[in-house]
Amino acid sequence: MQAQLPIAVLGAGPVGLAAAAHLLQRGLTPLVFEAGASVGANLASYRQVRLFSPWQYNIDRAARALLDAHGWEAPAEDLLPTAGDLIDDYLAPLAALPALAPQLRLRHRVLAIARAGIDKVKTSGRELAPFVIRTDTPEGVREFQAAAVIDATGTWSQPNPMGANGLPALGEDDCQAQITYGMPDIQGTARARYAGKRVLVVGAGHSAAGNLIALATLADEAPGTSIVWAVRGASLARTFGGGEADQLPARGLLGTRLQALQASGKLEVHRNFRIQAVRPLAGKLQVQAEAGVDPITEIDEIVVATGARPDLIMAQELRLRLDPWLESTDALAPLIDPNLHSCGSVRPHGHRELAHPEPGYYAVGAKSYGRAPNFLMATGYEQVRSVVAALAGDMAAADDVQLELPETGVCVTRPLTEDAPAAGGCCGSPSPAPASCCGGPAPEPASACCVKDADLQAAGKGTCGSRTGTCA
Ligand SMILES: Cc1cc2nc3c(=O)[nH]c(=O)nc-3n(C[C@H](O)[C@H](O)[C@H](O)COP(=O)(O)OP(=O)(O)OC[C@H]3O[C@@H](n4cnc5c(N)ncnc54)[C@H](O)[C@@H]3O)c2cc1C
Repeated sequence: MQAQLPIAVLGAGPVGLAAAAHLLQRGLTPLVFEAGASVGANLASYRQVRLFSPWQYNIDRAARALLDAHGWEAPAEDLLPTAGDLIDDYLAPLAALPALAPQLRLRHRVLAIARAGIDKVKTSGRELAPFVIRTDTPEGVREFQAAAVIDATGTWSQPNPMGANGLPALGEDDCQAQITYGMPDIQGTARARYAGKRVLVVGAGHSAAGNLIALATLADEAPGTSIVWAVRGASLARTFGGGEADQLPARGLLGTRLQALQASGKLEVHRNFRIQAVRPLAGKLQVQAEAGVDPITEIDEIVVATGARPDLIMAQELRLRLDPWLESTDALAPLIDPNLHSCGSVRPHGHRELAHPEPGYYAVGAKSYGRAPNFLMATGYEQVRSVVAALAGDMAAADDVQLELPETGVCVTRPLTEDAPAAGGCCGSPSPAPASCCGGPAPEPASACCVKDADLQAAGKGTCGSRTGTCA
């Protein structure tokens, strides 16, 4: 590593800023590039949303130490912040610290990363060449050099389109005036846009659930508001979640509230609705699935909450090993594949799992999960602690990864066909509903996501970590 060069941190979200804190704590120099005009720019797009993890999971340890040294008043551990609180009460004070503020480059969107004077094909001398970070800034395109790169640019700024096949639905680009992605402030700044309208929500994750609940509250106050919900699958069980078995009660409550809403008949639900096209018709939108399925008609507004995907273009001159379909870091994929897992835990992992064939480049945070859902900040904080320890040469600390995540209470890996919350054990085997339905994260040497998965593998009874779809 070129000792005199800084370590580039891409993205000033919670995980990027935590990486910067760990670098400072180890006497290394971060240089943080953030596309937005302020830190936490992705969180800012859903400021109004109350997070489901309380403060105890949301503050990185190195960041806390830096803040504490400057007389910071920490929020109560058990309170649930909104995304805006997370910015105002934690990220902004962190970014303003005298050690960190000069290292922050706001309005610096990273366009590309490469190695100085060396393209992707050349091997000789590669690990000695500094990284080049090309950024779009208010002063034009500028390049910076760095000894290593910690890429924490997340995925939220690249929302998935509404087409069921992963492409924009036919006509989606032309209907943008009536389509929003993510989590608009339905009860606040965007209220007028949705009040009294027929609104379609697309998606089956936590964001879709939050949008539907916000619309239902609006509908109680604004007559004429009606809510339509389209999902690709047959079952709503994963969206309804683990209820009281969820180790994050607020996350469990989100699903429970949605399930009650659906039972109340206030939602027009379209299951197995795989969107192919959206067409304007007399000022409204008509949304079409495959032939033989009735279209959804008379829609005024669409909110697409179908997840997000990482920006892979910026790193295309680097040698990356990504999972073919999740686009996550390859080693993590078997542990987080939503085709197989729903428990929300992941076994402890650090710099080794996060490394790529490109020495010195690490994708961390939400980006490390690629298109997989259920990423938690707490995972990212342990990731950057390990990565920074490795960059500092402290391999003992780097390899000592500790991570215990709150499970969703949905511990099932087979496709679900019914709406009942999945109380089954790993691989769908019946089990009582213990406090930890999957038994917690798997021990470190196991190639499994959770204890039940590891036990199955050890007993030679198949695995829910298998990506072949076989489950004993
Ligand atoms: C609605 C919602 C609710 C959530 N609730 C929780 C919760 O309760 N608890 C929890 O742990 N997690 C929650 N999450 C997950 C949460 O997104 C992540 O845990 C967290 O934000 C990930 O942090 P990050 O730093 O990896 O990425 P992000 O927060 O997405 O930050 C990425 C940063 O990189 C910047 N950036 C992007 N591209 C570039 C570029 N090209 N150049 C420079 N900068 C760039 C962005 O502007 C942003 O500031 C929630 C997510 C959503 C969407």
